[in-house]
Amino acid sequence: MIVMKFGGTSVESAEAIRRVAGIVRERIAQRPVVVVSAMGKTTNKLLEIATRAAKGDSKGALDGLEKLRQFHLRESVDCDAEVNSHFDQLKDLTKGLAIMGELTPRAIDAVSAFGERLSSLIVTAQFKHSGVDAVHVDSREVIVTDKRHTQAAPLFAETNAKLAGSIPELARQHVPVMGGFIASGVDGVTTTLGRGGSDYTASIVGAGVGAEEIQIWTDVDGMLTADPTIFPGGRRVETCSFAEAAELAYFGAKVLHPATVLPAIEKNIPVRILNSRRPEVEGTLIVSDPPPASTPIRSIACKLNITLVNIVSSRMLMAHGFLRRIFEVFDRHETPVDMLATSEVSVSLTVDSTRALDAIRTEIEEFAEVSVEEDHGIVCLVGENIRGCPEVSARAFAALGNIKTRMVSQGASQLNISMVVAARDLARAVESLHREFFG
Ligand code: ASP
Ligand code: MG
Repeated sequence: MIVMKFGGTSVESAEAIRRVAGIVRERIAQRPVVVVSAMGKTTNKLLEIATRAAKGDSKGALDGLEKLRQFHLRESVDCDAEVNSHFDQLKDLTKGLAIMGELTPRAIDAVSAFGERLSSLIVTAQFKHSGVDAVHVDSREVIVTDKRHTQAAPLFAETNAKLAGSIPELARQHVPVMGGFIASGVDGVTTTLGRGGSDYTASIVGAGVGAEEIQIWTDVDGMLTADPTIFPGGRRVETCSFAEAAELAYFGAKVLHPATVLPAIEKNIPVRILNSRRPEVEGTLIVSDPPPASTPIRSIACKLNITLVNIVSSRMLMAHGFLRRIFEVFDRHETPVDMLATSEVSVSLTVDSTRALDAIRTEIEEFAEVSVEEDHGIVCLVGENIRGCPEVSARAFAALGNIKTRMVSQGASQLNISMVVAARDLARAVESLHREFFG
């Protein structure tokens, strides 16, 4: 068995879904189980409708709902009655929200679940229409979570028992089609796994049925050797490790959220990223133990809009508890710190949220001097081979030439070397490093 997950853009229209049907048909011998996201931007639209309703704008909400209904009817085949009955329920729910004038997490889940409830039905119908013998499986009947609405966590014992007890049997004869993202609590009330949760569903299902591979079909060729928005000359990464993928994801290589593949990692199931518009491309294979790479690094990640905070205190000299005091301030203002470098009397760190920076600064200034520099970026070399290649840093700095690095960090895991540069130097830095390491 393989699990094939198709994201929102892969199922955004009737045409896209037909393409998906073709992709699935070609892999029928591998006994696919299909997991789909909501069509296109449906989840955002549903949340907007719910918010409007709860604010009392029922006309705006109901107009939005009608547009969404027309869109789903237009992009589907052979399931008008079911689509309409879902939208009728959604309409009642929306009117209820307008009367109540509030939007609880439980109600948010009830509304946003319609995206995947609908897409899974529509994909099932389109598959059948295209000659793929699909059966719809309501994910809410097989994925059981706790009651933390909008961010629910699966209860693996129950979920795995339900998955193992139903899906493999079904997949022997048919192609099960399930909505991602949606589940239900032990009490049977609809829950969701958090935004972007369909990848998580795919990996829960893959782990639960013991799939040979989990495929995440998206609209890019896989992970690239450089962020395409900063440097367009990157190449596809053929294989990488879960740890490398996690590093890259943190830096906004938005292909995969590391937490979502945990169930796959635990069962050692390979995850492959593929492009539903170019299915012939082999994508990126993510495994626990990839074969050694030919280059010391796997990819260059980067992040813009980084703010550098420098904290200096002569009183820090020989004192303990200084870092704790600093971090307590950041913690109290719920501002994550990304990179950190210290000397005996100074600390430099980076943040990407400046929301609370003024308040943080005021508090730290009670015991140290603070300066803040905006408009920086992080360039990060990622690769497990960095560990065995002591020359990587020397090569990196040589490649950067006269580009000034404001901060450098190499963690003990030796999976990455991160450098902070001025935002205006970022593209040039990535390009030079890419030339050095990937030719
Ligand atoms: N439809 C959900 C979202 O947009 C889940 C997903 O697409 O993964 O967040
Ligand atoms: Mg999505």
